[in-house]
Amino acid sequence: MRLFKKRAFIPITKSSQLEDEKNAPKVPDGMFTQCPNCKRAIYGKDLGSEKICPECGYTFRVGAQERIQLTVDEDSFEEWNLDVVTENPLDFPGYEEKIQTIQKRTGLHEAVVTGKARIEGMETAICVMDSSFIMGSMGKVVGEKITRTFERALNESLPVIIFTASGGARMQEGILSLMQMAKISGAVARHSEAGLLYITVLTDPTTGGVTASFAMQGDIILSEPRALVGFAGRRVIEQTIKETLPDDFQLAESVLRNGFIDKIVPRKDLRQTLGLLLELHQ
Ligand SMILES: [Zn+2]
Repeated sequence: MRLFKKRAFIPITKSSQLEDEKNAPKVPDGMFTQCPNCKRAIYGKDLGSEKICPECGYTFRVGAQERIQLTVDEDSFEEWNLDVVTENPLDFPGYEEKIQTIQKRTGLHEAVVTGKARIEGMETAICVMDSSFIMGSMGKVVGEKITRTFERALNESLPVIIFTASGGARMQEGILSLMQMAKISGAVARHSEAGLLYITVLTDPTTGGVTASFAMQGDIILSEPRALVGFAGRRVIEQTIKETLPDDFQLAESVLRNGFIDKIVPRKDLRQTLGLLLELHQ
């Protein structure tokens, strides 16, 4: 179902100021961390479990496991699709080793965690992408896990919530990575035709093929504050159109003004907002 009509493009206004691409690292393990927005040094514990800058409210990136803990009811998460294994279909040099190293470092199986959970007591299928796993890039496994989640949600008459965080398609899987966009879109459409709800929550960064497909197909599209949301990067666009882009270009706040996002929800309110939306669309 499609609740809101969306515009087909984002208009660009001129600005003379050029800023480097947004630099928003994850919180390191050290005692202090610098806020990428207000540049203040923050004592680790002051960030809290929600990882929000106490000075300016900047929302740090969080991994999939932390996100699930922050969002779903305690002990309600049941993981799905762990049997889908990453392969090296193009024999890309060093790809298998890279995957193994990242799996060990992050404790993740792939760039998306999928399953079923309850939010404020409401049951839902949920997919959470993690930008620390090869920039949350979408290869065959990410596409397959999300597609299977939509198919199972359709069978079990469940809504789907996806937290997006991605640099786009996975280069090492070439065309097989690009075709995931069409595959997931087909599953989204079948889920939608059955009258089931699909909510996307855009988190920093949501770009490339993910933006060009399922991130923008939600019936309701939420975003975290100041998330980078776009398709191509700022430099590529500036070099192509020979114009300087405004400072807030591709920030969730400007994407909202252009009608691509329905609401920006602070992290501390996300659980409650999602619970309410699930209840309203039951
Ligand atoms: Zn700050």
